[in-house]
Amino acid sequence: MKNIELKQPSSCCAAPAIEQDIMKQQPNNNFKNKPVVIIGAGPIGLAAAANLAERGEDFILLESGTHVGHNISDWGHVRLFSPWQYNIDKAAARLLSKHGWVAPSPDALPTGQELLEKYLLPLSELPEIKSKLILNTKCSSDQPKRHRQNEIRASRKQSFCDLY
Ligand SMILES: Cc1cc2nc3c(=O)[nH]c(=O)nc-3n(C[C@H](O)[C@H](O)[C@H](O)COP(=O)(O)OP(=O)(O)OC[C@H]3O[C@@H](n4cnc5c(N)ncnc54)[C@H](O)[C@@H]3O)c2cc1C
Repeated sequence: MKNIELKQPSSCCAAPAIEQDIMKQQPNNNFKNKPVVIIGAGPIGLAAAANLAERGEDFILLESGTHVGHNISDWGHVRLFSPWQYNIDKAAARLLSKHGWVAPSPDALPTGQELLEKYLLPLSELPEIKSKLILNTKCSSDQPKRHRQNEIRASRKQSFCDLY
Protein backbone atom coordinates (compact mmCIF):
# COMPACT_ATOMS: atom_id res chain seq x y z
CA MET A 1 0.00 0.00 0.00
CA LYS A 2 1.28 3.46 -0.90
CA ASN A 3 0.78 6.61 1.12
CA ILE A 4 0.48 10.12 -0.18
CA GLU A 5 1.64 12.49 2.52
CA LEU A 6 -0.08 15.84 2.51
CA LYS A 7 1.95 18.37 4.42
CA GLN A 8 0.76 21.94 4.92
CA PRO A 9 -2.25 21.87 2.60
CA SER A 10 -2.41 25.04 0.55
CA SER A 11 -6.16 25.44 0.85
CA CYS A 12 -9.24 23.95 2.39
CA CYS A 13 -12.16 24.05 0.00
CA ALA A 14 -14.83 22.94 2.47
CA ALA A 15 -14.12 25.29 5.36
CA PRO A 16 -12.89 28.80 4.56
CA ALA A 17 -12.75 29.67 8.28
CA ILE A 18 -10.28 26.85 8.89
CA GLU A 19 -8.30 27.94 5.87
CA GLN A 20 -8.01 31.46 7.27
CA ASP A 21 -6.79 30.05 10.58
CA ILE A 22 -4.16 27.99 8.81
CA MET A 23 -3.02 30.95 6.71
CA LYS A 24 -2.73 33.13 9.84
CA GLN A 25 -0.42 30.56 11.38
CA GLN A 26 1.89 30.70 8.36
CA PRO A 27 3.41 34.18 8.43
CA ASN A 28 5.71 33.54 5.46
CA ASN A 29 2.67 32.34 3.48
CA ASN A 30 4.64 29.54 1.84
CA PHE A 31 1.45 27.84 0.58
CA LYS A 32 1.25 30.07 -2.45
CA ASN A 33 2.68 27.76 -5.06
CA LYS A 34 1.19 24.53 -3.74
CA PRO A 35 -1.78 22.80 -5.32
CA VAL A 36 -5.19 22.70 -3.69
CA VAL A 37 -6.13 19.22 -2.54
CA ILE A 38 -9.83 18.40 -2.89
CA ILE A 39 -10.88 15.37 -0.88
CA GLY A 40 -13.86 13.51 -2.34
CA ALA A 41 -15.16 13.62 -5.92
CA GLY A 42 -18.86 13.94 -5.21
CA PRO A 43 -20.94 16.82 -6.64
CA ILE A 44 -19.23 19.33 -4.32
CA GLY A 45 -15.65 18.17 -4.89
CA LEU A 46 -16.21 18.14 -8.65
CA ALA A 47 -17.76 21.62 -8.54
CA ALA A 48 -14.71 22.83 -6.60
CA ALA A 49 -12.48 21.23 -9.25
CA ALA A 50 -14.41 22.92 -12.08
CA ASN A 51 -14.13 26.32 -10.37
CA LEU A 52 -10.38 25.89 -9.83
CA ALA A 53 -9.86 24.66 -13.40
CA GLU A 54 -11.71 27.69 -14.71
CA ARG A 55 -9.43 29.98 -12.68
CA GLY A 56 -6.31 28.15 -13.85
CA GLU A 57 -5.47 27.07 -10.28
CA ASP A 58 -3.48 23.90 -9.70
CA PHE A 59 -5.28 21.12 -7.79
CA ILE A 60 -5.60 17.40 -7.27
CA LEU A 61 -8.88 15.62 -6.63
CA LEU A 62 -8.73 12.52 -4.45
CA GLU A 63 -11.59 10.01 -4.41
CA SER A 64 -11.81 6.90 -2.26
CA GLY A 65 -14.21 5.13 -4.61
CA THR A 66 -13.65 3.48 -7.98
CA HIS A 67 -15.40 6.35 -9.73
CA VAL A 68 -16.59 9.87 -9.03
CA GLY A 69 -19.93 10.26 -7.26
CA HIS A 70 -19.32 6.94 -5.57
CA ASN A 71 -21.88 7.54 -2.78
CA ILE A 72 -24.57 8.33 -5.32
CA SER A 73 -24.23 4.86 -6.86
CA ASP A 74 -25.76 3.51 -3.63
CA TRP A 75 -29.03 5.25 -4.40
CA GLY A 76 -28.89 5.50 -8.21
CA HIS A 77 -32.47 4.26 -8.55
CA VAL A 78 -33.88 7.13 -6.42
CA ARG A 79 -35.26 10.23 -8.14
CA LEU A 80 -33.93 13.54 -6.78
CA PHE A 81 -36.33 16.10 -5.36
CA SER A 82 -34.48 19.00 -6.99
CA PRO A 83 -34.54 19.54 -10.77
CA TRP A 84 -31.43 19.70 -12.94
CA GLN A 85 -31.14 23.47 -12.80
CA TYR A 86 -30.25 23.24 -9.09
CA ASN A 87 -27.92 20.29 -9.41
CA ILE A 88 -25.40 21.67 -11.88
CA ASP A 89 -22.60 23.99 -10.86
CA LYS A 90 -22.27 27.00 -13.18
CA ALA A 91 -18.51 26.69 -13.70
CA ALA A 92 -18.95 22.96 -14.35
CA ALA A 93 -21.66 23.71 -16.93
CA ARG A 94 -19.39 26.24 -18.69
CA LEU A 95 -16.52 23.76 -18.78
CA LEU A 96 -18.74 20.93 -20.05
CA SER A 97 -20.36 23.15 -22.69
CA LYS A 98 -16.92 24.03 -24.08
CA HIS A 99 -16.57 20.33 -24.86
CA GLY A 100 -19.96 19.99 -26.56
CA TRP A 101 -22.07 18.81 -23.60
CA VAL A 102 -25.78 19.47 -23.91
CA ALA A 103 -27.40 20.42 -20.59
CA PRO A 104 -30.39 18.32 -19.54
CA SER A 105 -33.81 19.94 -19.37
CA PRO A 106 -33.61 22.36 -16.40
CA ASP A 107 -36.98 21.38 -14.92
CA ALA A 108 -36.63 17.58 -15.15
CA LEU A 109 -35.94 15.55 -12.02
CA PRO A 110 -33.02 13.15 -12.55
CA THR A 111 -32.43 9.89 -10.74
CA GLY A 112 -29.11 9.48 -8.91
CA GLN A 113 -27.89 7.33 -11.81
CA GLU A 114 -28.81 10.03 -14.32
CA LEU A 115 -26.99 12.61 -12.22
CA LEU A 116 -23.92 10.40 -12.48
CA GLU A 117 -24.21 9.54 -16.17
CA LYS A 118 -25.33 12.88 -17.55
CA TYR A 119 -23.29 15.22 -15.36
CA LEU A 120 -20.73 13.90 -12.87
CA LEU A 121 -19.06 11.24 -15.04
CA PRO A 122 -18.82 13.49 -18.16
CA LEU A 123 -17.39 16.25 -15.95
CA SER A 124 -14.76 13.88 -14.56
CA GLU A 125 -13.78 12.87 -18.11
CA LEU A 126 -12.91 16.40 -19.20
CA PRO A 127 -9.15 16.78 -19.72
CA GLU A 128 -9.06 19.71 -17.25
CA ILE A 129 -10.27 17.39 -14.48
CA LYS A 130 -9.33 13.86 -15.55
CA SER A 131 -5.62 14.62 -15.40
CA LYS A 132 -6.00 15.77 -11.76
CA LEU A 133 -8.30 13.01 -10.52
CA ILE A 134 -6.87 10.14 -8.47
CA LEU A 135 -9.36 7.34 -7.74
CA ASN A 136 -9.13 4.58 -5.10
CA THR A 137 -7.46 6.99 -2.71
CA LYS A 138 -8.76 7.40 0.81
CA CYS A 139 -7.59 10.36 2.87
CA SER A 140 -7.34 10.18 6.60
CA SER A 141 -5.78 12.16 9.39
CA ASP A 142 -3.07 10.55 11.49
CA GLN A 143 -4.44 12.06 14.70
CA PRO A 144 -7.77 11.70 16.49
CA LYS A 145 -10.00 14.72 15.87
CA ARG A 146 -11.45 16.01 19.09
CA HIS A 147 -12.38 19.56 18.19
CA ARG A 148 -11.69 22.07 15.48
CA GLN A 149 -8.34 23.28 16.82
CA ASN A 150 -7.09 19.70 16.93
CA GLU A 151 -8.39 19.17 13.44
CA ILE A 152 -6.30 22.07 12.16
CA ARG A 153 -3.23 20.81 14.00
CA ALA A 154 -3.80 17.34 12.61
CA SER A 155 -4.02 18.56 9.06
CA ARG A 156 -1.07 20.91 9.50
CA LYS A 157 1.10 18.15 10.86
CA GLN A 158 0.37 15.51 8.27
CA SER A 159 -2.46 13.67 6.60
CA PHE A 160 -2.26 10.45 4.66
CA CYS A 161 -4.04 9.23 1.59
CA ASP A 162 -3.88 5.51 1.10
CA LEU A 163 -3.73 4.15 -2.44
CA TYR A 164 -5.23 0.68 -2.37
C1 LIG B 1 -31.58 9.33 -1.57
C2 LIG B 1 -30.98 10.71 -1.64
C3 LIG B 1 -31.62 11.69 -2.42
C4 LIG B 1 -31.09 12.99 -2.48
N1 LIG B 1 -31.73 13.93 -3.25
C5 LIG B 1 -31.23 15.19 -3.30
C6 LIG B 1 -31.88 16.20 -4.09
O1 LIG B 1 -32.91 15.99 -4.71
N2 LIG B 1 -31.33 17.44 -4.10
C7 LIG B 1 -30.20 17.74 -3.39
O2 LIG B 1 -29.76 18.90 -3.45
N3 LIG B 1 -29.55 16.81 -2.67
C8 LIG B 1 -30.05 15.55 -2.59
N4 LIG B 1 -29.42 14.61 -1.84
C9 LIG B 1 -28.21 15.01 -1.11
C10 LIG B 1 -27.01 15.02 -2.05
O3 LIG B 1 -26.82 13.74 -2.59
C11 LIG B 1 -25.79 15.44 -1.28
O4 LIG B 1 -26.03 16.72 -0.72
C12 LIG B 1 -24.58 15.50 -2.17
O5 LIG B 1 -24.30 14.24 -2.74
C13 LIG B 1 -23.42 16.00 -1.36
O6 LIG B 1 -22.32 16.07 -2.21
P1 LIG B 1 -20.85 15.93 -1.65
O7 LIG B 1 -19.91 15.99 -2.82
O8 LIG B 1 -20.66 16.91 -0.55
O9 LIG B 1 -20.81 14.51 -0.91
P2 LIG B 1 -20.96 13.04 -1.48
O10 LIG B 1 -21.93 12.94 -2.59
O11 LIG B 1 -21.17 12.18 -0.28
O12 LIG B 1 -19.51 12.76 -2.09
C14 LIG B 1 -18.39 12.60 -1.27
C15 LIG B 1 -17.34 11.83 -2.08
O13 LIG B 1 -16.16 11.79 -1.31
C16 LIG B 1 -15.64 10.47 -1.27
N5 LIG B 1 -14.96 10.36 0.02
C17 LIG B 1 -15.54 10.29 1.24
N6 LIG B 1 -14.59 10.24 2.20
C18 LIG B 1 -13.40 10.27 1.56
C19 LIG B 1 -12.04 10.23 2.02
N7 LIG B 1 -11.73 10.15 3.30
N8 LIG B 1 -11.04 10.28 1.09
C20 LIG B 1 -11.33 10.36 -0.23
N9 LIG B 1 -12.60 10.39 -0.71
C21 LIG B 1 -13.62 10.35 0.17
C22 LIG B 1 -16.86 9.57 -1.42
O14 LIG B 1 -16.53 8.32 -1.98
C23 LIG B 1 -17.74 10.40 -2.37
O15 LIG B 1 -17.49 10.13 -3.73
C24 LIG B 1 -29.91 13.31 -1.77
C25 LIG B 1 -29.26 12.33 -1.01
C26 LIG B 1 -29.80 11.05 -0.93
C27 LIG B 1 -29.08 10.01 -0.10
